Amino acid sequence: MHDTPRVYVTRQIPQAGMERLEEECDVFVWDEPTAPPRDRLVERVADLRVDGLFCNVADTVDEAVIDASPDLRSIATMSVGYDHIDLDAAAERDVAVGHTPGVLSETTADLGWALLMAAARRVVEADQQVHDGEWTAWGPTILLGRDVHDATLGVVGLGRIGTAFARRAAGFDMDVLYTHTSRNEAAEAELASYGIDAEHCTLTELLERVDFLSLQVPLLEETEGLIGEEELRLMDDEAVLVNTARGEVVDTDALDAALENDWIRHAALDVTDPEPLPPTHSLLRHAPEKLTVTPHIGSASIETRSEMAVMTATNLLAGLRDERPPHSALADAGYE
Ligand code: NAP
Repeated sequence: MHDTPRVYVTRQIPQAGMERLEEECDVFVWDEPTAPPRDRLVERVADLRVDGLFCNVADTVDEAVIDASPDLRSIATMSVGYDHIDLDAAAERDVAVGHTPGVLSETTADLGWALLMAAARRVVEADQQVHDGEWTAWGPTILLGRDVHDATLGVVGLGRIGTAFARRAAGFDMDVLYTHTSRNEAAEAELASYGIDAEHCTLTELLERVDFLSLQVPLLEETEGLIGEEELRLMDDEAVLVNTARGEVVDTDALDAALENDWIRHAALDVTDPEPLPPTHSLLRHAPEKLTVTPHIGSASIETRSEMAVMTATNLLAGLRDERPPHSALADAGYE
């Protein structure tokens, strides 16, 4: 343990978060644009003998990382999801773990809608045609998409982001269906105040009825591969799948088959399995007509990333003072 805590930050972060850390810590930063390879992360944590680790979704924080520094007592991830952190190992060693719930819900819901709208109205494809010099005339049958208004939206996981996402459907007069661990009456009441009568149903029923499907569940044992071949075959062949949750919630091979065989019309993904998606990955053989992919940018607005960085720093500093972080992943996951 150092008099001035030593903190390792696994990527360059917005200035406001860095300033917060520098007020109380010696800060060391991985300066590359890509994530530190796991061995390098273990090495840096060990060599610097850090007290705190400021990480993000692209870092696998497993037992080896947590054990690399005997002084490590606080981890904070600049994300709401914490599936990349071994919480069992952290809890056993009394290492605090912070995360960023709430602050990114609206921004991530915005991106989900950007994907939904782009897929429905073929925006990426259309733009590509214009850039390729293929805009030769207005055409009555060219680039016809699907109406979003009056369509049926299905949300899997009506939590913070799921509710923010569903709320936006009010502007499009959509029918909203959802599945959840159980009926979420608080979220239903919030949506009702926006004129949305959200209907709780089974996943099977939802898949059979939706025009647009939005996944908003955390990655858990129960949600890994939640959408596989059987589920994709239940969907309408004109339906659009939007995934801003985690790539592993969808079985990638099954999705590949779904696009190949036109079981669904389009998949719009902000998250993939694996991440990053290598340029040679078989999914990427599907043209923008069927597949839109963004590189995990759900929370990537200037305002939100800055707030996330400060929130992560605040969580990390609390852990370094042996206090429970204001947003504790261990508490939220039921460890405390
Ligand atoms: P949240 O408030 O915890 O919402 C998730 C909801 O899913 C919870 O209400 C949970 O119910 C429900 N759920 C769990 N298992 C389910 C299942 N099998 N079927 C249906 N519903 C289930 O979390 P959030 O803040 O909305 O974030 C959700 C996830 O989005 C994060 O975990 C993260 O993976 C992802 N995310 C992605 C980005 C991005 O950049 N693309 C950004 C932020 C978040 P209970 O409360 O009953 O457990």
